[in-house]
Amino acid sequence: MAARSKNPDLDARPKRQAANRTSGLKNLIVKFCLDRGADLVGFAPVERWDEAGEVPPDFRPRAIWPPARTVIVMGMEMPLPIVETTPSIVHKELYDTSNRELDQLAYDLTRYLNRMGHASFFFPRDGYSSLRALRENNFAAFSHVMAAKYAGLGTIGASHNLLTPEFGPRVRLVSVFTSAAVPPGPMLDKELCIKCEACAKCCPKRAITMRKDRVIGDYDKTACLEMTEELTARRCYPCGICTKVCPVGKDRLLYKQAGIMKKYLKEAEALAANPDDPEYKPWSHVRKYGVPTAKK
Ligand code: SF4
Ligand code: SF4
Repeated sequence: MAARSKNPDLDARPKRQAANRTSGLKNLIVKFCLDRGADLVGFAPVERWDEAGEVPPDFRPRAIWPPARTVIVMGMEMPLPIVETTPSIVHKELYDTSNRELDQLAYDLTRYLNRMGHASFFFPRDGYSSLRALRENNFAAFSHVMAAKYAGLGTIGASHNLLTPEFGPRVRLVSVFTSAAVPPGPMLDKELCIKCEACAKCCPKRAITMRKDRVIGDYDKTACLEMTEELTARRCYPCGICTKVCPVGKDRLLYKQAGIMKKYLKEAEALAANPDDPEYKPWSHVRKYGVPTAKK
């Protein structure tokens, strides 16, 4: 049996040292991620999936990889002026770039942690090979959105997107599973979604239906997938209109885009009446080039 000192300060020392070690590791991880371009970093202890009970058991981190103790979630911003041009080739290029950067960051962090002796691996930001795969089974093996919520990065809005205080839903995510117990931050205790209905009203497929009894709306995955199929045929996916119109996010202040909601809500109708409507010219100009036109 280990000897115990009579001095409570000395008794507490090993615990404090362990806490210092784990918070030291946390600082190293945060610095690593921020230095390599992450805009957001959060830490979700795997117990949060079990406590919340929202995610089916097979989709929880410990079911996927039993040694997991923490899921590290990283986010990168999708700049609003590009998202506003969706569907367009520049939006697709941004999507591809952010995905590539996120996977590279997660791969690098995985190896960084492994080199320090903390067994880790990463879950790439998208997990499907083709749209046919989604037609057959429209589910991901692991949800970065739920991981980000448990890591305290945001809350889930009516649109089923993760809403963050910094960028609203205009953020892409990736996750690293690690066997290290990293001290978590708190989860957000206030819903960010203000139930403004903009996502439901502007969705071209009417895939989102608001619910009176809860924040998260009903979501027609098949209707949303149809939109992706149409845009993929034109090489200008993803749709992302629900991320464009969401008023949540401090990025709107940076881009001085507060109070633009009316313009979003009228866009489809205005462009159907006049494809050259001058109010929408900057976006419709970008959309015109680099992709085939939509079939009527
Ligand atoms: S991505 Fe497009 S089609 Fe899908 S829910 Fe959002 S707005 Fe609707
Ligand atoms: S657009 Fe409005 S209703 Fe939809 S997620 Fe954002 S805040 Fe919520």
